[in-house]
Amino acid sequence: MKNIAIIGSTGSIGRNALDILSSLKGYKIIALGAHSNIALLQTQIEKFHPKYVSIGTEEGYKILKSKFPKIQILFGNEGLKTIGALDETDIILTAISGAVGIEATVEAIKKGKRIALANKETMVAAGPIIQKLLKEYPKAEIIPVDSEHSALFQALHSGTPREIKNLILTASGGPFRGKSTDFLKHVSVEQALKHPNWSMGSKITIDSASLVNKGLEVIEAHFLFNVDYDQIKVVVHPESIVHSIVEFCDNSMIAQMGTPDMRLPIQYAFTFPERKFNTRIPELDIYSLSNLHFEKPDLDTFKGLQLAFDAGKMGGTSPVVYNAANEIAVELLLNKKIEFLTLYEIIEKALIVFPTQKITSLDDVFTVDKSVREFVRKNFGV
Ligand code: NDP
Ligand code: MG
Repeated sequence: MKNIAIIGSTGSIGRNALDILSSLKGYKIIALGAHSNIALLQTQIEKFHPKYVSIGTEEGYKILKSKFPKIQILFGNEGLKTIGALDETDIILTAISGAVGIEATVEAIKKGKRIALANKETMVAAGPIIQKLLKEYPKAEIIPVDSEHSALFQALHSGTPREIKNLILTASGGPFRGKSTDFLKHVSVEQALKHPNWSMGSKITIDSASLVNKGLEVIEAHFLFNVDYDQIKVVVHPESIVHSIVEFCDNSMIAQMGTPDMRLPIQYAFTFPERKFNTRIPELDIYSLSNLHFEKPDLDTFKGLQLAFDAGKMGGTSPVVYNAANEIAVELLLNKKIEFLTLYEIIEKALIVFPTQKITSLDDVFTVDKSVREFVRKNFGV
């Protein structure tokens, strides 16, 4: 029996993970963490009977404490950290959105756990720290959940790190694929929230429309697989069937395909190195694939992707700045305080105002992260 902790259990990834785990034998949920969706969290507690639950609001904390006296109820960031550090856990799924997932991941690494990593912001903001910790605690392992990185992880088994020529990340292109800057000037949040292929949380859906999601994934791939930015390519593949490709030195390309459904990469992060049959994972009908397309991304229009390569190459704190500026920009966009294209303006400005510094500790990350958030709120929030 494997003990599982899930932080972000009420989100899109968290719900899919619980769906997968409830149909797999040999896994027990021992801890859940969420922020504000108290109603869903209660339903999950009643169904999965965890020993520990962390919640992000005081009101939620009080409700859970009185309703579930036998469960250890935890609170806020400390609660997430406690879940990350639990000795009893075998695998922790980090499915929180945003950089708040970093500390729980760090705790889990120190305890030598397997981390099923969905929270890409962790790797983007704290990549150098996580890499260092993984060397210090070799028992710990990160198995990516993000579909592109899961695809790369799977394809990478076909060769050695020295044989990698390029990592090729596929991007659906989002709802604005093929559109011009002029068109983007007038798009609404509602349009940006309509993803053609994937059903996901609102933050990542906006990121997919702006291609910042792909930018974050480029940086995530760099830190996860230790590959130079010049060896990471993006290809727009609107059907979202090929989830990513590794090109090896002999020009062989190994791709992973599947339906656009997160339950496959989520399950793989739990069962690796094994694969399991599961009726919850939809079959891909190979005979339906007569029209797969691959295009170059338009980096002039979708500037957010270019800015990620720039920030990544600058290194140090620049990816932290890129991520933090984007997180607040997305929040402002979702609250209709800024226009869609202002997103890029905010990231670009933040990268100039906060020049690259070296990262030596997690504190360096948090200090820059906080200053960037304040800067964006002050200058672009109304
Ligand atoms: P959602 O917005 O659907 O869910 C976010 C989850 O995080 C919710 O459970 C939410 O709790 C919780 N949460 C947010 N802030 C906090 C906080 N401060 N403390 C505790 N919990 C918090 O996001 P997704 O599931 O779409 O995405 C989660 C992560 O996975 C992101 O990093 C995303 O980039 C990544 N990812 C997602 C994919 C997808 O298909 N959705 C694909 C690949 C990666 P509550 O609801 O209770 O407020
Ligand atoms: Mg992805």
